[in-house]
Amino acid sequence: MSSELDKKLAQADGYLARFKRETLGHLIDGKSVAGQGEVFDNHSPVDGQLLGRVASGTEAEVAAACESARDAFGTWRALDGSERRRLLHKVADCIEQRADEIALVECMDTGQAWRFMSKAALRGAENFRFFADRAPDAANGLSLPTNTHMNYTVRQPLGPVGVITPWNTPFMLSTWKIAPALAAGCTVVHKPAEWSPLTARLLAEIMLEAGLPAGVVNLVNGIGETTGRALTQHDAIRAVGFIGESTTGGLIMAQGAPTLKRVHLELGGKNPVIVFDDADLDRALDAVVFMIYSLNGERCTSSSRLLVQRSIHDEFVAKLAQRVAKLRVGHPLDPRTEVGPLVHARHCEKVLSYADIARADGATVAVGGTRAAGADLPAGGQWVQPTLFTHASTKMRIAQEEIFGPVLTVIPFDDEAEAIRTANDVRYGLAGYLWTGDVGRANRVALALDAGMIWVNSENVRHLPTPFGGMKSSGIGRDGGDYSFDFYMDTKNVALALGQHAIAKMGV
Ligand code: NAD
Repeated sequence: MSSELDKKLAQADGYLARFKRETLGHLIDGKSVAGQGEVFDNHSPVDGQLLGRVASGTEAEVAAACESARDAFGTWRALDGSERRRLLHKVADCIEQRADEIALVECMDTGQAWRFMSKAALRGAENFRFFADRAPDAANGLSLPTNTHMNYTVRQPLGPVGVITPWNTPFMLSTWKIAPALAAGCTVVHKPAEWSPLTARLLAEIMLEAGLPAGVVNLVNGIGETTGRALTQHDAIRAVGFIGESTTGGLIMAQGAPTLKRVHLELGGKNPVIVFDDADLDRALDAVVFMIYSLNGERCTSSSRLLVQRSIHDEFVAKLAQRVAKLRVGHPLDPRTEVGPLVHARHCEKVLSYADIARADGATVAVGGTRAAGADLPAGGQWVQPTLFTHASTKMRIAQEEIFGPVLTVIPFDDEAEAIRTANDVRYGLAGYLWTGDVGRANRVALALDAGMIWVNSENVRHLPTPFGGMKSSGIGRDGGDYSFDFYMDTKNVALALGQHAIAKMGV
């Protein structure tokens, strides 16, 4: 064991101790609430150790959180935008001060490797700063004059909103939803995922410490089907910002329909990376490996289908297989680790089950497909070998279903038309990546792909003002920049007569 790992483990143990001592409850109206609901265990995917017990929010607790958010809304929306900006920058400062704690807790709760998570808290802080700076202008609208009327638009915050987040990179994703909601003037009730609830608590505490008034942000832990459902059904909640699986997204819409909730859904993906034979193949190889094996492949924008032109297929795939076989699976806190354990035993079983599915459908398991083992992998962890399926075709389950692990499916193609057809032949449409040296082709293919985000000759590099979101079963709505404010705010038009227009006379 490296001394660096020992040091990080000792630090992580220190930060985790509080969660082991006491059942994790909720934060409602600025106060810690123990929770009266059913309690569930939260185990670390690293070694199976009990990280603590978590109370699942009851309907009454969810209602209390929603009512607190409703009560706080009047004050929060009335604050000057510059004051909201100041407070949200303060949140970012506090996140930065506790960045190591957040990253270490997140690694142990999710299994994500330190190499990627060490920056997660800082990215969360950046989300707060980005939206903080836009808070003073969020209400601005258009002037739309006619000869008879002055029309102007303003945006106003919707009201209390629900935020429901998944387990894969919970801290960053929570900030991505909560920061714009607060900047817009909305208040929030957050329900994090039951498999990795710890850093949501740190975030909620940080926001209170930074000076957000009680009730502006509330946190309710719990199971999706009960606590989450209650949040989506509560009358006070005007909209739900959701990140998770596509089937759950459908449920959120249905549950919110009777109370006419606005929904924003960021859902699953089966994203293609298309490599043409005229591409810079060395850079393409780096990006292909990075975009499926980083973050354990538990990433909505991972490129889980590699479409590679037949003329370069054998050589490219041989090099790829060598790289995949050499990926370092290890303890997430070891800085050398490239792939950590998967989040939960159930998810690990699901991911591993695809090796048999691949064989049964006639594909080749070129690398991995089994549990990873080794003297330095703690017992009780959810270890899998990074996996490569080759000789696949588009109708196979490994080419259609979101596996959400370090698993890549390779499909050969002959020409541009076939590449586009295959890329679009899935229910999802979140992201698409393509590699080519031909500018015309780059644009043709980018426009033809059914996906909300396309990267050309690049891995996923985010720029916060740009729209983030998916087509088809990958979601509804866009986050990022002003797109986030369009979701969390209502646009109002005000028409003022200039005084001369004719008004139809009736009953004279
Ligand atoms: P999930 O849908 O199982 O759960 C997400 C959240 O929804 C959890 O907090 C869960 O408790 C809650 N939930 C479950 N059922 C609910 C219900 N009936 N009502 C209200 N809430 C409910 O997803 P997951 O397994 O936690 O996350 C993995 C999925 O998230 C993958 O499909 C991945 O692609 C997707 N994801 C998408 C994005 C994106 O931006 N598009 C980002 C990250 C993850």
